[in-house]
Formats: sequence, C-alpha cells, structure tokens
Amino acid sequence: MTAHWRIGFHKNFEFGKTLGRGTFAKVKVARHKTTGTCFAVKIIDKQSASFKRESLKSEIVLMRQVIHPNCLRLHGVYDEKSKCFLILDLASGGTVLDRIIENDCFKENDAKKVSKDVLTAIEYLHSLGISHRDLKPENLLYASNDPQSPDYTTVKVADFGLSKIFVEKQPMRTVCGSPNYVAPEVVDPYCISIGYGPEVDIWSMGIVIYVMLCGFLPFYADSNAELFRLICAGDFSFPSPYWDGISESAKQLIRKMLVVNPKRRLSPSQCLAHSCVLADQKAPHLRQHRPQARGST
Ligand code: AMP
Repeated sequence: MTAHWRIGFHKNFEFGKTLGRGTFAKVKVARHKTTGTCFAVKIIDKQSASFKRESLKSEIVLMRQVIHPNCLRLHGVYDEKSKCFLILDLASGGTVLDRIIENDCFKENDAKKVSKDVLTAIEYLHSLGISHRDLKPENLLYASNDPQSPDYTTVKVADFGLSKIFVEKQPMRTVCGSPNYVAPEVVDPYCISIGYGPEVDIWSMGIVIYVMLCGFLPFYADSNAELFRLICAGDFSFPSPYWDGISESAKQLIRKMLVVNPKRRLSPSQCLAHSCVLADQKAPHLRQHRPQARGST
C-alpha cells in the first residue's frame, strides 16, 4: 500500500536537480534525508489555474495499483496544503526521445529492447484494466544513466496523467493523447461517438517503434486536420533510403500495429511473440540523415 501523508515532505526530503516539466507539474530529484535514497518527486501546484483535483486523484488511485519493473512506481504521496508531492522511482537515464535525438535513431537491437520493455508494461497494464493513453518517447524513461548498470537499457513507462481504468462494456470516449501518436479511433468523429478501447496503446507503440527505427514520424502534416486525415486513412510508408537497411520483420510488426481497425490490431502478447521482438538482429544497419519535412520527434 502506498503511504499517504498530509504534511512532512520537506522534513523528510531535500531537493536535487530539476528533471523535467510536464503540463501540470515540475519533476525534481528528491533525496530522503534519513536513508540517502534518491527518488524523483512530481510537484503539483494545487493553486495553479490548470490544477484539476479529480485528475490528480485518479492518477494516484491508478498508480497505486501499478507495480511492475517496466512502469514507474509510486512510493508515497505528500498531499500538503498548496502542493502535492508524488514520490516516484528515479529514472536517471533520460527519455527515449533524448536518446533518439542523440543518435538520430536507434539500431534495431536497441529498439527491440525498448519495444520488449514497453510491450511487457502494456500487457501488464491492460491485464489490470488500465489503458495508458499517452505513450510516446517523452513518456518512456531509461532507468539508469550508468552504462555499467544492468538498468542502463531498462525502460519504464511514465506519466499516467491521462491513463484510465477501462471497463469492457463501457468504451472510453475522451479525446486525449498526443496528436502524432494518437490512434485513428480517437480522432475519427464517427468512431469516437462509439468509443474506443485499450488498443489505442498498441497504435501509439507502433508509432514509437517506427520513430525509433528511422528518426521521423510515419504520419506528419502541418495541420492537425490533415494529420488526423492521414492517421484515419492509415496512410504511411517506409521510404527509401531510410528504411532500406531495416529488417522485414520490424516493418511487418509495425504494419500489424498500425492497423486502422482496432479489432484487427495485434494484442500486446501477440506483439511480444512477434519475431521482430523475439529475434536477435545480427547486422547493425547504416544510419542515414532523416528528412526534415517529416516532422520532428
Ligand atoms: P511528466 O510530468 O510526468 O510528463 O514529467 C515531465 C518530465 O520529467 C519527463 O518528460 C521526464 O523528463 C521527467 N521525469 C518525470 N518523471 C521522472 C522520473 N521518475 N525520473 C526521472 N525523470 C522524470
């Protein structure tokens, strides 16, 4: 059970460096004064105009249930008068987005490890009835920044702010997520009136795998209206020369994840059983410059 206190954050913790900023919160390193253990602390300003009590409550309720090596763990909550502090695993290796930008894109083996970790997390979350709904490289964190650590290549899913517990017979209807990663059934006006299910996470992960392998987005347009049109049409390709050195099994996995009809999309366990995620890729492929016009990651 995650501990929950009304006071005492500053008595027990001291702040370290700032790790990042989200829409509603700031994230910093926090050192536990007695044990010296470092955590990440998400600081939510309850007096800010954008603060939504119900969203915070549901993020906490949901995160309390999540205990998995590939998901950030919530260790405690200090719900004080003007601020709420969420004590989380410290994932010091930065985001998958940082590493894509550093390297232009990933070798297939590195992308495979990220895919395996995140798909394992998605399989676990869906088994709990949780849909993440905002998977993207910015929300995938490397557990460690130490190349000698076994956790250097371990990825943890972060930011459960848009996550939702889904009920089989009650489809989700909230339009949410990040435009470039959102599934067709979320942005198609007809589909959204019917509602959608946790398959949206597989679509987003298909986009993440595509971006990791080539460094640019499969769907890109200058306006959201055009972007959503392309997404709903499932209109993407593997342009040469950027995809020439990438295995057929990786392309096949992406094709089976980026299926417009959510019922025909692979499930998390089918993705994990796919040869692209299972097999070792022997030959690292040559990196090329990515085209500018396809959007940044
Ligand atoms: P969020 O508000 O959860 O989107 O977090 C904003 C940013 O803070 C992320 O993109 C990360 O760069 C960083 N961050 C969030 N949580 C952690 C964590 N547990 N460990 C390290 N960095 C984090």
